Amino acid sequence: MTLRLFNTLTRQLEEFAPLAPPKVTLYTCGPTVWNYAHIGNFRTFVFEDVLRRYLEYSGYQVLHVMNLTDVDDRTIAAANRAGVSLAAHTAPYVEAFFADRDYLRLEPATHYPRATALIPQMVALIERLLQRGVAYQGDDGSVYFAIEKFPTYGRLSRVERRDLKAGARVSSDEYAKEDARDFVLWKAARPEDEQAGAAWDAPFGRGRPGWHLECSAMAQHFLGDTLDLHAGGVDLIFPHHEDEIAQSEAATGRPFVRCWLHGEFLLVDDTKMSKRYGNFVTVRDLRDDGRDPSALRYLLCSTHYRKQLNFTRDALEAAAAGAQRLGEFRQRLVRAVGQEAAGAGAAGEGGLGALSGALEREFGAAMDDDLDAPRAVAALMNFVRDANRALDGGGASRAERERALQVFDRTTAVLQVVPGETRVGRVEAPTAPPQEPQRIAPPAAGEDLETWARRMAEARARARGRRDWQAADEARRLLAQHGFEVRDTKDGAVELRPAGARSKPA
Ligand SMILES: [Zn+2]
Repeated sequence: MTLRLFNTLTRQLEEFAPLAPPKVTLYTCGPTVWNYAHIGNFRTFVFEDVLRRYLEYSGYQVLHVMNLTDVDDRTIAAANRAGVSLAAHTAPYVEAFFADRDYLRLEPATHYPRATALIPQMVALIERLLQRGVAYQGDDGSVYFAIEKFPTYGRLSRVERRDLKAGARVSSDEYAKEDARDFVLWKAARPEDEQAGAAWDAPFGRGRPGWHLECSAMAQHFLGDTLDLHAGGVDLIFPHHEDEIAQSEAATGRPFVRCWLHGEFLLVDDTKMSKRYGNFVTVRDLRDDGRDPSALRYLLCSTHYRKQLNFTRDALEAAAAGAQRLGEFRQRLVRAVGQEAAGAGAAGEGGLGALSGALEREFGAAMDDDLDAPRAVAALMNFVRDANRALDGGGASRAERERALQVFDRTTAVLQVVPGETRVGRVEAPTAPPQEPQRIAPPAAGEDLETWARRMAEARARARGRRDWQAADEARRLLAQHGFEVRDTKDGAVELRPAGARSKPA
């Protein structure tokens, strides 16, 4: 069996084939840190975690990037409402997200870039789009993407071309399909942006990036032009992911993502769980309730990620009972492994050895089938029932008991549905895949020096990303020659300034 995944782009199940196995590049859209993430958001994050862990279970090395959206319409509005700066407002929600991540046993991503830390990369991407003639500056000072210049716009979300309103513009970060029009890449700074400290200088005017652009720039920076996998909730298909494709492909001329995966909504009493409807339960509510996270994970794994799930307290209780059953069985298995007495080793059907082999096969077959976690959970529960019987019979040899525990731990570690101690799966630290090197050369005759410098700073950052120290040093040397100094800040940002300048006035 090989892994097959449902690709939203083609609306088909496709055999998973990464560009450079065993490495897999995965980008998942992270939280917007204007408030606490709700359980609906975490349904998506858990689905992505199961995907990541199953890829690792299958022998892949996953380079996983999840962004933190710390500048967009909502974060700025929330910061202004609270009367604090953007950075001050978002910091506690970033911390809260990481705490919720650890509580829910989400395997940490390789990188968590904050949008505000990669502004130079975003500016460089917009410049490329302007140079290619697919972006333009509106009379309001903002920069827009011209959808008519990108003929395949609408392919992911299947927006009809006749519904596109080319030339008409939308400047908000979130909008509906009825508003499929030129979307904003860079929003000219308004007084409220300045007030929140959410404005940056750029050759095309002071402002801040559009939400969609942020993801394109961050994905490209860490993962290269073409990604193996990009995942998110279904609500991101339009416009967010549609716009990501347009921006990335118009800039690079290459396919942006080979396979798009989207998780369905979590409903509460058949209403989409959202802050807008005021029906959100936060993960911290569950934690404060003293819930073991395995209950929620079991609940989420009991419905396929492409089906809607109705969240109720009763469903959570039932899931907690299921997780409890798995936990009790594991304790029994651990005790059985510790016991000296060796049985006769009842082989064949019903024997513990045969049952372990069957679990491994059924678990793999279920997960290979577009991550059919409900079927995988069913296989685990069947195993618990049959293995309990085998242990009652007392016939299993010590080797069989050990193998049963090993298979049980390996499979449950993918789903993380057993209460108690967290057993984090294998975490590799893969290096970045090779990227198209950007030409590192002195400015061309007549080229704007600042634009060139920003491009060189970006080329240097990318060279460092792929551990090409020689190229990175060359970029730094050229920049110094032309009076620029680059510095890497602690949060991963790159600072570019005239050599000899001080970062802060003394
Ligand atoms: Zn995104």
